[in-house]
Amino acid sequence: MGIEADPALRAARMRSVEEHVAAVLTGAGPTPVERVPLTDALGLVLGQDVASLVDLPGFDNSAMDGYAVRLADVAAVAPGEPVVLPVSDDVPAGDGRSVVLAPGTAVRIMTGATVPEGTDVVVPFEDTDRGTTTVAILAVPRAGRHVRLRGEDVTTGATVLTAGTVVGPAQVGLLAACGHTHVPVHRAPRVVVLSTGSELVPAGRPLAPGQIHDSNRPMLVAAARALGALVTTAPAIPDVPGALAAAVREHLEGADVVITSAGVSAGVYDVVREDLVTLVDAPADVQLVHVAMQPGKPQGLAWVGERRVPVLGLPGNPVSAYVSFHLFARPLLRLLAGHVTLSAPVVGARLTQAVSHKSGRRAYLRVRLTAGAEGWLATPVGANSSHLLGALAHADALLVVPEDVTHLEAGSSARVVVTEPGALEGRVP
Ligand code: AMP
Ligand code: MG
Repeated sequence: MGIEADPALRAARMRSVEEHVAAVLTGAGPTPVERVPLTDALGLVLGQDVASLVDLPGFDNSAMDGYAVRLADVAAVAPGEPVVLPVSDDVPAGDGRSVVLAPGTAVRIMTGATVPEGTDVVVPFEDTDRGTTTVAILAVPRAGRHVRLRGEDVTTGATVLTAGTVVGPAQVGLLAACGHTHVPVHRAPRVVVLSTGSELVPAGRPLAPGQIHDSNRPMLVAAARALGALVTTAPAIPDVPGALAAAVREHLEGADVVITSAGVSAGVYDVVREDLVTLVDAPADVQLVHVAMQPGKPQGLAWVGERRVPVLGLPGNPVSAYVSFHLFARPLLRLLAGHVTLSAPVVGARLTQAVSHKSGRRAYLRVRLTAGAEGWLATPVGANSSHLLGALAHADALLVVPEDVTHLEAGSSARVVVTEPGALEGRVP
């Protein structure tokens, strides 16, 4: 068998998925840090440590609705022997007075209100008769109970969140409590999505013979947006030399990444390589490579313009484009956004049915995850061909069949890349 005919040898000269990820990330770094309003920071990544501007709690305050008392005044309380104290004041939350607890009295106090000076303990309503002029104390908590102390959670100047933290709802709450109106985050990556192909027309237009709806462009726009990117896009570009280059030039300003679809295989009208070559300084800045994976073997990569903006040329078959986005574009967009973890989450799952695959290339099979008694179950969705968009839309994960494996039995376990974590809600095992 000649070298070209031997699939293992052909595969050996392909780039591995990991090598291509490394190539895509070459020279890339997080976007600049800017201060954005806290309300706009959701999903962005802190670019600096953030310290608190205040103590939390900001003052000693009550954790319960009840009565502030001195322990000496309630020492005689025993089961069936309450102590009755006059109620000398009433302090709701937000009351800014500095109240002093006079010895021999109780102050009625609400949750979050400043505890009067001299308070040893707050007796919750449940352990009293809830009196308003006098109150009967039926039981006494131990010293210090139900008083939240100033600074016990966070002290002024202490780092509350470190660089690299993703701003989620809990972080927004903490940052607001700490007094921040703006936070330093890596700005959202700016992504240009372009599709190429003379057969493409946008959904909503009638299809002439030979034409198809452009599905990759809206899909890739959505995928980039789902990762928090700011996306610009343009109508599909025909397979005419120079057309893609013109579109890239037009949209390059301010872009962090360009993602294109189609035109990177060996077809006669696959003009992406020629066009990218006109946009780079050195021919080595354009890579049209084969990656040892299925789907998604042909991949384009280039760095264009003075800022050496990465261009990811994804293959045109919709499933290939989808898989390629998750394997290659996702880590780049995550890196730009300042994330520490770049790849999609991977879980272990058991196959509900056997799968087969040709050896030599790592397969990413579309599967749907469900919760089994002992963890995730992966059910293949549709057949193993990269034009099957109908099946793709019912999958939420990609089952990895390693390069040297041709068959996996039902019940065997495999690694699964979770591409749509949000879709798994309610299915957690
Ligand atoms: P290509 O990579 O240009 O050889 O395209 C591979 C296959 O993907 C062909 O069947 C194309 O018609 C199809 N294709 C290319 N671009 C798109 C797109 N934007 N939306 C849907 N299908 C596409
Ligand atoms: Mg094409």
